[in-house]
Amino acid sequence: MKITFCGAAETVTGSCHLVHVGGLRILLDCGLFQGGRERSDLNREPFPFDPREIDLVLLSHAHLDHAGRLPLLVQRGFSGHIHCTQPTAEIAKLMLADSAHLQMEEASYRARKAKRRGETAEPPLYDMDDVLRCADRFRPISAYGEELALNDRVSAVFHDAGHILGSAAIELRTPDGNLLFSGDLGNRHQPIVRDPCRPPKSDVLLIESTYGDRCHRSMEDTVAEFREAIETVIPAGGNLLIPTFALERAQEVLYEIFLLWKARDLPRCRIFLDSPLAISTTRVFARYPDYFDVEGQALFANSPNPFDFMPLRYSQTTDESKEINRSSRGNILIAGSGMCTGGRILHHLRHNLWHKDSGVLFVGYQAVGTLGRRIVEGADTVRIFGEEIRVGAKIWTTNGFSSHADQPILLDWIGQASPKHLVLVHGEDDTLDAFASRIRADLSIDANVAKLGETIEL
Ligand SMILES: [Zn+2]
Ligand SMILES: [Zn+2]
Repeated sequence: MKITFCGAAETVTGSCHLVHVGGLRILLDCGLFQGGRERSDLNREPFPFDPREIDLVLLSHAHLDHAGRLPLLVQRGFSGHIHCTQPTAEIAKLMLADSAHLQMEEASYRARKAKRRGETAEPPLYDMDDVLRCADRFRPISAYGEELALNDRVSAVFHDAGHILGSAAIELRTPDGNLLFSGDLGNRHQPIVRDPCRPPKSDVLLIESTYGDRCHRSMEDTVAEFREAIETVIPAGGNLLIPTFALERAQEVLYEIFLLWKARDLPRCRIFLDSPLAISTTRVFARYPDYFDVEGQALFANSPNPFDFMPLRYSQTTDESKEINRSSRGNILIAGSGMCTGGRILHHLRHNLWHKDSGVLFVGYQAVGTLGRRIVEGADTVRIFGEEIRVGAKIWTTNGFSSHADQPILLDWIGQASPKHLVLVHGEDDTLDAFASRIRADLSIDANVAKLGETIEL
């Protein structure tokens, strides 16, 4: 068995690993590098393999850092199938279409600027046609646990990773032993999704390490902060803005708000889900209640439920979105992007951020250099659409809404899989070193840190 690390090696994005085993060339994920110009330039580089020679892709989940280069793979000649769970296939197609849309917008902006300089700009990484051709390659499996024969010697089994809806840890059963790829592992007690499964015993384990050096705050603290923000802002007549990712976090936020409403603890207000992508993703969620945890299934068996209850409004069109700030105040506004780097949240921030009665509740990680990070770090003013806006609103940050396993969960998982070879992927440098020494100390297992472009033979 030969494994080449083609992404998410000493970094968290661009997940992509090539496994050469049992006569097959299998790609585990094909994600985008994200975060800054330097990293996203890596997306344009040639793949360190010939896409025409890849037999198939096994996709762990729909996040773009795992699926976002699939249209490029197809554009460059890949003609095999992409296997994943059914929700992953549906959500990935939405995410990829949105990604193509952004790539095309950015490319036409670059082209306009380049034209003025008398130059030509780079074309988009891929366009909607590439996404459609890529969508044709998806062959979803019917359920977790099903053994999918890839040829007469190699098979794959998808296990519930509990990270986002449809996410999987992928087990490869091969003549050279069992390889387990964690994909992204979920947190425990997350709303909607199940806890990460107990892993099968494996010879080789590739495990994500995003929070390998950290312990999360409890979900109770998070819910308490969440309530405090709502109870402070809404009765005072302010708007509470919640910047969120369209996938998973938006649905979890609706879930928590619904629980407050159901317990009659939600002050009188309307809740706007103001993101077309979050709305379409929520509709996919609603079609797959079988993938929810027990509490989620019980809750969604009835109407009203977290995606359909009285004060909740889906605002699809731009006009509907604009209408929100023209109407009465004292509402909850959920919009993307999660780090305030674009999307409809920018308009809401411009309208509300200066207002002392308003509030902004951050429910996700804010990367360095983003508008979200500047607000969280206490900037007095921020620039939005070229206008200097005073930060008068109250700011909350909750950290418990993580959809990634923390160190104790990762250590448990490694212990249960008890691999002969352990490789750490999907983590930043400092985290990887700290995590590797912790694994050595606690489990007496030697962990290798994957290097970009490196091939290991087992
Ligand atoms: Zn993920
Ligand atoms: Zn990831």
